[in-house]
Amino acid sequence: MDLGLKGKKAIVCASSKGLGKGCAMALAREGVDLVINARSADVLEATAAEIRKATGVKVTAVACDVTTGEGRSRVLAACPDPDILVNNAGGPPPGDFRDWDRDAWIKAIDSNMLTPIFLIKATVDGMIERKFGRIVNITSGAVKAPIPILGLSNGARTGLTGFIAGLSRDTVRHNVTINNLLPGSFDTDRLKQTLKAAADREGVSVEQAAQGRVVGIPAGRYGTPDEFGHACAFLCSARSGYITGQNLLIDGGFFPGTM
Ligand code: NAP
Repeated sequence: MDLGLKGKKAIVCASSKGLGKGCAMALAREGVDLVINARSADVLEATAAEIRKATGVKVTAVACDVTTGEGRSRVLAACPDPDILVNNAGGPPPGDFRDWDRDAWIKAIDSNMLTPIFLIKATVDGMIERKFGRIVNITSGAVKAPIPILGLSNGARTGLTGFIAGLSRDTVRHNVTINNLLPGSFDTDRLKQTLKAAADREGVSVEQAAQGRVVGIPAGRYGTPDEFGHACAFLCSARSGYITGQNLLIDGGFFPGTM
């Protein structure tokens, strides 16, 4: 299936590794020129080189913290009129809500709710004018099935989800769609950190914690960033103009509900 994206421009935030990189690579394979972003310049440059070599598209690397106003300005300066925006940032740390002060909450809300909202604010009207836009927010399966120790993530991402539910119904008539991708367990550095915390908590090895979690996944394995990227590219496709305001769970069947 030709996704109809050749020659389009995308900003993919937090994309030197993991799920963001999976999305960037999948879009590049469809002929989309990219602005990619992360804080560590060396890893980011290596990813940019890898994507260029694999696909031949134009890749601009902007090393900055996208959760700051200055970082977002730099990303937007590199691509002021994107056709596609993939919002992503690191997830908040796990823990007990009794230990989180106001600063911890503000940091989580800044990263996982306000950063995507401000990037959408800066780009959506141009998309509406040009009659094409695809916005995908990487959130979490925790929006659908909250995980107690990820309270900061549950709270901030659910706030974003509520906001998107409204806005996405406003923009779709202009062929601008906004959807959320909800990862379950994907084999990335972030997952390794979460497993380490679980192992410490339960007094088991990281391998035992990893095995314990895989057992509960009907697919019998963790997902790959590549698989996640393909779903992102589909939502960004020129063929996906009638899909908006959706929360697509990609979790190997882990969530047992019908909807
Ligand atoms: P990852 O493998 O750790 O990759 C995170 C990427 O984001 C890296 O490129 C990192 O590079 C970049 N990044 C982090 N904070 C940033 C910031 N403030 N500004 C710019 N770039 C930043 O993580 P992942 O597994 O792909 O997770 C991506 C998102 O999905 C996270 O929010 C995570 O909580 C969520 N999620 C993941 C899973 C999973 O199973 N993997 C499940 C549910 C939810 P630098 O560190 O160099 O900035």
